[in-house]
Amino acid sequence: MDTLSLAALAGIILFLLSLLGAWQRKIDRRETDRVVREIREAKTLGTQKAIAQHPQIDPIACIGCASCVAACPESGVLGIVDGIAHVIHGSRCIGHARCEEECPVGAVRVTLGDISLRDDLPILSDELQTSVPGLFIAGELGGIALIRHAIDQGRRAVDAAAGHVQASPGPGEELELLIVGSGPAGISASLRAKELGLRFRTIDRDDLGGTVRKYPRRKLTLVQTVALPLHGKLHGREYHKEELIELWEKIVAEHELPITSGVSLEGGRSEEGSIIAVTSEGEIRARTMILALGRRGTPRALGVPGEQLEKVQYRLIDAATIENEHILIVGGGDSAIEAATALANQRGNKVTLSYRKDRFFRLKARNAERLEEYRESERIRVIPRSEVLGIEEGRVVLELRTAAENKQFQLQNDAVFIFAGGDPPFPLLHRFGIEFGGPRLELSEPPADEPPPASIVIHRTGAKAGRS
Ligand SMILES: Cc1cc2nc3c(=O)[nH]c(=O)nc-3n(C[C@H](O)[C@H](O)[C@H](O)COP(=O)(O)OP(=O)(O)OC[C@H]3O[C@@H](n4cnc5c(N)ncnc54)[C@H](O)[C@@H]3O)c2cc1C
Repeated sequence: MDTLSLAALAGIILFLLSLLGAWQRKIDRRETDRVVREIREAKTLGTQKAIAQHPQIDPIACIGCASCVAACPESGVLGIVDGIAHVIHGSRCIGHARCEEECPVGAVRVTLGDISLRDDLPILSDELQTSVPGLFIAGELGGIALIRHAIDQGRRAVDAAAGHVQASPGPGEELELLIVGSGPAGISASLRAKELGLRFRTIDRDDLGGTVRKYPRRKLTLVQTVALPLHGKLHGREYHKEELIELWEKIVAEHELPITSGVSLEGGRSEEGSIIAVTSEGEIRARTMILALGRRGTPRALGVPGEQLEKVQYRLIDAATIENEHILIVGGGDSAIEAATALANQRGNKVTLSYRKDRFFRLKARNAERLEEYRESERIRVIPRSEVLGIEEGRVVLELRTAAENKQFQLQNDAVFIFAGGDPPFPLLHRFGIEFGGPRLELSEPPADEPPPASIVIHRTGAKAGRS
């Protein structure tokens, strides 16, 4: 090839490279604009704020390779803005820390962030004790998510409670420990309390399993290596949620744990060295208490007549069991859209989606697209600017609000699913006098199959517990 041809070839290559560069810059710009828009919306809606531990990005170290975005098993937590990773919907972070593992330059750390800025973190000692003596917190309620952390903290909180009981034993007939919550933290705490021979009971307003029971059907749940007191190591690292629940139910039955479902904690106080829990079945007095309530709170009700009917639910667990029904979904978030599309896919269902705003603006891109597709193909009837006025057997009454008029109408109805967000459990903690302002907790990996520390094993001697 002569010099002229070589020069021409180099010129063509340079031209193509510059075209490629311009094309890439255009894609990056579009992505940046999308992420900026989403962050703005997330801030308005409060979904940017994390529930528990979440990614912290070092903007100086970040090289914008997006491996953290690709590694995250959830969607919409992270995005790239001008070549630097940013948190979009912090509340969707579950704390797996895959982003931290995959970042090639160590620019991501998954932590609780600046805890001085968090008014939703109860102050906890290293032993998980709150500012109220004898009152402990285990699991996600303390700010740290993941099943393996909940299991570890459940065990540690019981060890600390047992130490407290030994130091100041109460009257013989009094419970030594009341555990509230039977999610992974509460199950682990109950097993450890049984192992130590404590006089205890566990209550939960719902069925055993906590948030895990409420995951969508067949959700793959990552537990990694973890060991339960009395049971030992869980052999799998991943389970379908049904398998985990079944396993926990089996363990609870095998060890005859005193767990009562359907009892809700409503308030409480500390009195003469004991904790009094005000519950839906009356007051329960115990020497110590572990709150293992999680952070997901109580689903928000609409407060309309008929909401107590059995056909009204606040989560969809298994769409596959619902067919040939007239269904109303209330809400405009991702959960509402996911439930609506899942139910619309079932044979014979007629699905209506009611949302009080005039547009859906906080959806994951995938859900927004699916909603549009289902609306166009009339698989879902979407009624924006509408509110439920009442729920009755066989029908619902709604009001359509337009600038011109408010019009009431009725729909045939067999089931109502309400997705109106939730009320966090923190006011309940305030009622106990628990102080907030950030825990003194380190996020450390729980031991996989650590045997119970012998020094804290309690042998029952008469009514009191004593250290062996
Ligand atoms: C969609 C989703 C997916 C997830 N996936 C994973 C995963 O793959 N791997 C993983 O490790 N983690 C995952 N997590 C996080 C994990 O589920 C939680 O970190 C874990 O369940 C926390 O356990 P916990 O026992 O602290 O609280 P929870 O599991 O939330 O249990 C709290 C319990 O307290 C009860 N309770 C609450 N208030 C009261 C009251 N007032 N009175 C009586 N009882 C009450 C509730 O009914 C509930 O049973 C996921 C979370 C979500 C939302």
